[in-house]
Amino acid sequence: MKKNPAQLELSKEAMQAYGYQVVDAIVNHHCTQGDQKPVALGSREEMDSLFLEEAPEKGTNPEQVLQFVLEEVMTNSTNMSHPKSYSFVPGPSNYVSVMADALATGYNIFSGGWAASPAAAELEIITIQWLLKIFGFPAKKGGGIFTSGGSMANLTALTTARRVKCGQDFSKAMIYLSDQAHSSNIKAIRVLGFKKEQIRIIPTDSEFKFSVNKLKNCIAKDRLEGLQPFCLIATSGTTNTGTVDPLLELAKICKKENIWFHIDGAYGAAAILSKKGKSLLKGIEKADSLTVDPHKWFFQPYEMGCLLVRNHKHLSQTFTEKPEYLRDIEGNTSEINFYDHGIQLTRRFRALKFYMSIKTFGLKEFRKAITFSIELAEEVENHLRSSQKWEVIFPATLAVINFRYHPIGKKYTQKQLDQFNQYISEQVVSSRKALLVTTLLHGQVVLRMCLINPRTSLSDVMETLGLCEHYAWEYTQKLQENN
Ligand SMILES: *Cc1c(COP(=O)(O)O)cnc(C)c1O
Repeated sequence: MKKNPAQLELSKEAMQAYGYQVVDAIVNHHCTQGDQKPVALGSREEMDSLFLEEAPEKGTNPEQVLQFVLEEVMTNSTNMSHPKSYSFVPGPSNYVSVMADALATGYNIFSGGWAASPAAAELEIITIQWLLKIFGFPAKKGGGIFTSGGSMANLTALTTARRVKCGQDFSKAMIYLSDQAHSSNIKAIRVLGFKKEQIRIIPTDSEFKFSVNKLKNCIAKDRLEGLQPFCLIATSGTTNTGTVDPLLELAKICKKENIWFHIDGAYGAAAILSKKGKSLLKGIEKADSLTVDPHKWFFQPYEMGCLLVRNHKHLSQTFTEKPEYLRDIEGNTSEINFYDHGIQLTRRFRALKFYMSIKTFGLKEFRKAITFSIELAEEVENHLRSSQKWEVIFPATLAVINFRYHPIGKKYTQKQLDQFNQYISEQVVSSRKALLVTTLLHGQVVLRMCLINPRTSLSDVMETLGLCEHYAWEYTQKLQENN
């Protein structure tokens, strides 16, 4: 028998040695990351000078490649799990799930169909059940699917909404979202081939909530024009401010108007595990579909998003195809083929990390972690309010706080204040000591912290504010020199 001379294998001893080195590196990273700098800054030229080469025809010693990667690749990546990574929505992650991902990848489990891996499909069913219960969705009728992230969950939701509400003809279909909705929704709408005229972006009120009055007017006018309002996207936890839209009122409108009610809770929905979050998120259980991102506030490593639906049949009606090459593994209806519930056929085994981390730590630990972060943001708010130098622009909401440098007694113009805060952020980031970028609220440049990392403490935040104050002082000096 001829044997393939190239099997892409290492010896058993080499595999073990290699694996131990990888685990040691990961554990070391987890334990020392607080002492490292969270921000990586590298230009294309610098990265090219490190990595640019032709695909090598000849191999290299595996440990040499690994060492090179540990030294040059890992160190040149921003760490979104770092306690001082405050921007965007951090990805706090957890070690148990990291190992679960290693197992899922190590065994290379195909999580597409029941027949291929009954246990993987079952764990996805079970963990989706856990989430349905957490969010108050119907346990029997409800369903869902794990995706790569919130963007894919939103795309899956809108595809489903359109299929259920419009069938084949969506030429008159209208979709409603607020000016604070996440950009991934607009992307999804574009991917689905809607025209610009089919999107209604409704202004928010002074608290960044969906303006219900303007929405009602808009729907009524669209009906008068013979258009078909079919989907509304609310946000529970906007990326900018953590604001939750008036879910109960929006649910009522959707019910009355026969509109699909999608809630994008990618980052904020997890707050339901805390008391405060639960009361803020009242009405979330009324959604037809809900996006949640476990790789944000459920502490999972990338990539893991999730879409929950009120009626699981809506997913299978939207995504089921029956090609001849899958006929032998179709199975029965209780044995779910997740390739029939979403876009991907070949899927990695995402449920495993969710399952193992919740089994290991228990939901109680998740509740505590989330509650702590919500309270931390409130403490930061109190501190900022009692300071001469800082102004709170939007109060702490679902662990997000927006503020800006604005010393009392000094007469700075709006433009100067914008420049101050832009400067502070730029200097903090280029110091690499914290990831703190700006956003715009009502046209003002503000600093924004998203404090969902359970390893972020008040003293981390105080250190970073101290750093900000230092750069504010530096900017004052610059202003004086220029005068
Ligand atoms: C992060 C986020 C998304 C996008 O999710 P990804 O996992 O980055 O694709 C969508 N909506 C909201 C509200 C988010 O915070």
